Amino acid sequence: MHMIATEEAFATPEYLEALGKFASTSTSDNVRYAAYFQTKPEAARGLCDVETRLANMDANGVDMHLMSLTSPGVQLFDADLGTSLAKQTNDYLAGLIRQYPTRIAGLAAIAPQDPVRAADEVKRAMTELGMHGIIINSHTNGEYLDERKFDPILEAAQRCQAPVYIHPTFPSGDMCKPMMPYGLSGAIWGFAAETGLHATRMVFGGVFDRFPELQVVLGHMGESLPFWLFRFDNIYKMMMSQGQVPPGMVKLERKPSEYIKSNIHITTSGMFWDQVLKFAIEALGADRVMFAIDYPYESSEIGAEWIRNAPISAEEKEMIMSGNAQRLFKIKP
Ligand code: MN
Repeated sequence: MHMIATEEAFATPEYLEALGKFASTSTSDNVRYAAYFQTKPEAARGLCDVETRLANMDANGVDMHLMSLTSPGVQLFDADLGTSLAKQTNDYLAGLIRQYPTRIAGLAAIAPQDPVRAADEVKRAMTELGMHGIIINSHTNGEYLDERKFDPILEAAQRCQAPVYIHPTFPSGDMCKPMMPYGLSGAIWGFAAETGLHATRMVFGGVFDRFPELQVVLGHMGESLPFWLFRFDNIYKMMMSQGQVPPGMVKLERKPSEYIKSNIHITTSGMFWDQVLKFAIEALGADRVMFAIDYPYESSEIGAEWIRNAPISAEEKEMIMSGNAQRLFKIKP
């Protein structure tokens, strides 16, 4: 069976250098840790070296990587540096897509710090670079995509039919604090809590009423959202009918769960677990779930072996391993 993995990280040496430089003066333990971790020789080789990547794919029967610039990406930097690094890494990734059209597809990085230039980059990526969508590493300096300043980005994504992959980053300042004593701010929990919050804000902020064609992608089996569909609908209804409507609350045109079922796709990155796969298929439909590994941070061997043997029908497996990604990201079969 054809296998496309949809959340596969890369970096360029220039990006890692900029991250290292930024981290050297940063007071954030999380930023310093990311820079330390990603610039270690083995991680840097996995992120930057395409031969290492292809060998890993070959060894594990992975036909294609949908590659994206690793988190935290360009969103830490000032707007000018972020914008120019996004362009630079996108040009590099576009070159790889041209060189390996059957093995590599890509999501473009953008710098939401400058929403108008970021929207221009969405257009350039989708019309000139042959990219398959965009990636945003969750909040940008504590700001979220439901905020109106980011509308140019969402408008461009909808117009260009660019799925927006909202990938985790470390939680913003105050949210991080109580997570730090036990190292919970990263992949173990904080990533999902923060990215789940981001997507939930978009749902309740009415983003999908304003941009009904927009498609958002969440990794890690939906950053917990599928588990919450009943309670989202139930409590939202109560809040709206009890006269205690929060000041920013929007009257949604549909039930919260309906947006999640029609505007969000999820991937299996780092969540190689039968029970939650079966639940996600039941909650959202098999056409909303896509295979992902999270190379080089997760094991391709474990991920690929898991999905091949997952206890789901052959038809569902085909959709999850390649069919849905081909449809959503317009990847040629
Ligand atoms: Mn990832």
